[in-house]
Amino acid sequence: MKLRKFLLVIPIFFSMNVFSQTTVFELEVMKQTAAMTVLCRDLHQTPELSLQEFETAEKMAAELQKAGFEVTENFGGNNVVGVLKNGEGPVIMLRTDMDALPVEEKTGLPYTSTKKVKTDDGNEVPVMHACGHDIHMSVWAGTVQTLAALKNQWKGTLLVIAQQAEEISGGAGLAIENGLFTRFPKPGCALAFHINPELESGKIGLVGGPVFAGVKTAEITVFGKGGHGAYPEKCIDPIVIASRIVLDLQTIVSREISPLEPVVVTVGSIHGGTRPNIIPDEVKMELTLRYYSDEAIAKVIAAIKRISRSAAEMAGMPTEKLPLVTIENAETPPVINNEELSTKIKGFATEIIGAENIVKTMPAMVGEDFGKYGRTAENIPICLIWLGSTNPELMKELNAQGKKPFPLHSPQLNPDYEKTIETGIRVMTENVLGLMNK
Ligand SMILES: [Zn+2]
Ligand SMILES: [Zn+2]
Repeated sequence: MKLRKFLLVIPIFFSMNVFSQTTVFELEVMKQTAAMTVLCRDLHQTPELSLQEFETAEKMAAELQKAGFEVTENFGGNNVVGVLKNGEGPVIMLRTDMDALPVEEKTGLPYTSTKKVKTDDGNEVPVMHACGHDIHMSVWAGTVQTLAALKNQWKGTLLVIAQQAEEISGGAGLAIENGLFTRFPKPGCALAFHINPELESGKIGLVGGPVFAGVKTAEITVFGKGGHGAYPEKCIDPIVIASRIVLDLQTIVSREISPLEPVVVTVGSIHGGTRPNIIPDEVKMELTLRYYSDEAIAKVIAAIKRISRSAAEMAGMPTEKLPLVTIENAETPPVINNEELSTKIKGFATEIIGAENIVKTMPAMVGEDFGKYGRTAENIPICLIWLGSTNPELMKELNAQGKKPFPLHSPQLNPDYEKTIETGIRVMTENVLGLMNK
């Protein structure tokens, strides 16, 4: 072959090869988007509450079986774990959540959920995928199917989990306690994603470092000396003590924590007394605490105890009847995206959807139990990616009217299903391919 001819052949060969891999990728993404949009509508109409994801888990297991995974069902509850080994290479974990919320859907969509379930106390509650976990499952299943179809484009092991009970923060913990990282191949990193109505579909949100806050719940029982409302001098009024505590708690964030440290102290419930003319014996309060650093939350808890004790002492309560402050053991730790992993993900995502579709997001004060996977002895780097979910045209209209899209947990949450699923599958597949190969 003459040199000139040979030089011509090389670029043609390479471009054909690259072209065919890209085409296979694109065709598979389109095929899975269509299939998963159908699955998503089904999941949307059959939502299940936390710890009751029985049928949903079966559907996720079926998706994994279809893709050729080794499947373990009922892993610490309704969790479904899948492993796909494809030669020597990294182990990458991909997680979706499965649970819905006790919310009555008011979107008016043709596939509106009309589902109601009976709770333990006999009450009937409506159920809706108001946090977009139906989309998460569809993106997860679509990514899994795409990666299984593109097995010749990567080498390594996929560890995937469809996780129960994210909304009550129990699912990740149960999976870890049951040996997710010891009974299966140990992942080199773990990825997850969450829809974000504040971003347009087609875009993703990414940040290295803090993403979701840590969550703790506290309970304060304030004791008093009850009696007749007409004889306050013969009583010690716990309602007055509790009121003082509520106000003084407001100074923790404003006066005791650095303004540069994100912390929330919210008293969400306060209950005491039965009648206007009775001073009660006790008042109970429940608080939600949000934080990013262990030092900050330790300081907050110490301050809550000190403020509560001082208010009761000031009112003359004896030492043995000072307020009881309990901090719930179960905690949702903060989700901190590993910086190095996030930078890699940003690189892969830029290649596949362009830098203009990647938004740097701010840390949120809501919680997500995905953080638990990054807090075990195995010290696994994690990264959670936001998936934009509001139709761009709708976003324009809303912006013009000075309005915002309905937020997560809203009965009117109305994501742009198909485009969000497509972008999710495309980006997550590319991320896994990138991490496996580069
Ligand atoms: Zn939620
Ligand atoms: Zn959620």
